[in-house]
Amino acid sequence: MRVLIAILLFIGAGVYWLILDGSTPNDAAYKFPLAEMRALIDADEGPLPAALNLEIISTDEAPLLAAHAGLHFKPFPLAMTSFQVKGAEGDIIIGGAMDKTLYDPTKRSDNATFSDPAYRRMLDAMRDSGAILITHEHIDHLGGIVRAPDPAVLAPHLMLSAPQISTMAGLAATGGLAAAYKSLTPANLSSPRLLAPGVAVAPTPGHSPGSQIFLIRTDNGQEYLLIGDIVWAMNNVEKAWGRPRLLQYIFFKEDRAQVQRQVRALHDLSLAEPDLILLPSHDKAWLDELVNTDKLGENFQ
Ligand SMILES: [Zn+2]
Repeated sequence: MRVLIAILLFIGAGVYWLILDGSTPNDAAYKFPLAEMRALIDADEGPLPAALNLEIISTDEAPLLAAHAGLHFKPFPLAMTSFQVKGAEGDIIIGGAMDKTLYDPTKRSDNATFSDPAYRRMLDAMRDSGAILITHEHIDHLGGIVRAPDPAVLAPHLMLSAPQISTMAGLAATGGLAAAYKSLTPANLSSPRLLAPGVAVAPTPGHSPGSQIFLIRTDNGQEYLLIGDIVWAMNNVEKAWGRPRLLQYIFFKEDRAQVQRQVRALHDLSLAEPDLILLPSHDKAWLDELVNTDKLGENFQ
């Protein structure tokens, strides 16, 4: 009997450790380099971007517990997104989502969608942009670029770091990586950098080695922080609660300790700066709300 109880306790502890525990340290001991990014933006006198637009290329659903560790079985609506900064000196596109070949409907939830027009608008905006960047090098952020029908058109605009470029071949279709992507010169994104007036990027490795955040200040003074996949849901920020270890260790090979510190730091930041709009890549309900309240532009222009 004691052995059985011990085994059950052991299994229970394992389930808790792998799936239910999303706790973050009380003291983040981590600071996003916002002051440095703001100083870069402040020091530039160019005209600030007129708008920040959102394109939702595809949608899906996952159990909420994937985003927010715990016994949450209700569906979490996911959006695969791209952002367009409308700059006076050229637009910047952030995020490449997935193309249709990566979006295999048989592996998706019943309510999943893919928008051909949205993917086309993203590609057109990339072609016309000053630069294309990503928050990180995972399939749902870089796949739509790797598998684009016109790689030679996009390649000159790509501004990717070495760790981001290194994953491209693994995301390519069976024919291999497009020739246009084989000789990309890595961009130096290893420290905070101004990309254009009102747009700064800074490295935040953790979710992946090439993860980075973007601070965008539009000409009405509104600031946005694109946080990629540090969290999937704003709920994680509100509760200072992360993803399950099972996902972090097996599927993403995240630096979990670092991501948990970042989640806590985002929580602290959201309390200290309630006017700063946080933009996780995938939280569809939150992004829809921002579009509905005119905080984000709907579709690329
Ligand atoms: Zn993602």
